[in-house]
Amino acid sequence: MDQQLAGKTAVVTGSSSGIGKGIAEAFARAGANVVLNGFGDAGAIETLRSGLERQFGVKAIYHGADMAKPAEITAMVAEAAKAFGQVDILVNNAGIQHVAPVDEFPPEKWDAIIAVNLSSAFHATRAALPGMKRAKWGRVINIASAHGLVASPFKCAYVAAKHGIVGFTKTVALEVAELGITANSICPGFVRTPLVDKQIDDLARANGISPERAAKELILAPQPTKQFVKVDEIAAMALYLASPAAASINGAAISVDGGWTAR
Ligand code: NAD
Repeated sequence: MDQQLAGKTAVVTGSSSGIGKGIAEAFARAGANVVLNGFGDAGAIETLRSGLERQFGVKAIYHGADMAKPAEITAMVAEAAKAFGQVDILVNNAGIQHVAPVDEFPPEKWDAIIAVNLSSAFHATRAALPGMKRAKWGRVINIASAHGLVASPFKCAYVAAKHGIVGFTKTVALEVAELGITANSICPGFVRTPLVDKQIDDLARANGISPERAAKELILAPQPTKQFVKVDEIAAMALYLASPAAASINGAAISVDGGWTAR
């Protein structure tokens, strides 16, 4: 799969950390120019950006668009197209979590999760599709979740957003099917990133147990392998979906969850 994305440009939202960072690295390794996005320490983001350029000989730029703000998302896609001539691959990955019973769920957390985990994908896809249509080639890859297919208690906004993005992806897929563009969702099980570390720490505190015990006995309970999925495994799936070999995979919700949703 070496250099199979040479000459392509990928926008990866939420790529300053975790899964998005892994995808950005995998795409750069395969020769794509990359647009990084996400919050975090400016120095660390610049180290990541310049490291991709140095290590893989591609161009990488950073755009700090807040994925809860439609105008900033549109501006990011426009800037990416201006810098590289084209957005060929869009990975809608940015995501946040909040855990609480429905009747205690803060409405502002609901709104934020729907905005970042669902609506941002609409705004970014809407902005990127015209260029993909002109180029008669494109890949939209949405990072959904096992929670896009099944539910867990206390995650109403996240589960609603992730089910929503699976449906959104299918609609895009049908609309672009004849145009050389595909749209697919990846549905990871638990991956040990900062998003999950926070849940582990909260569960450990609430149950008076160590983080390692909370991870093993509580977080990994639904994951039959009892192992975290690795960032690299999600990145490899994203890379495959971006590759020519995946041209006929369209509208799919691909589980990478150690068997969680096989139950
Ligand atoms: P993470 O916390 O490591 O990374 C999230 C990224 O999104 C960061 O770069 C962060 O800065 C960015 N982000 C958050 N809010 C943003 C905003 N308003 N604007 C711009 N960027 C923003 O988490 P992760 O686990 O890598 O999550 C990435 C995606 O994978 C999310 O959509 C998440 O729901 C999904 N996912 C994660 C897991 C898991 O177990 N970690 C499982 C299934 C799906």
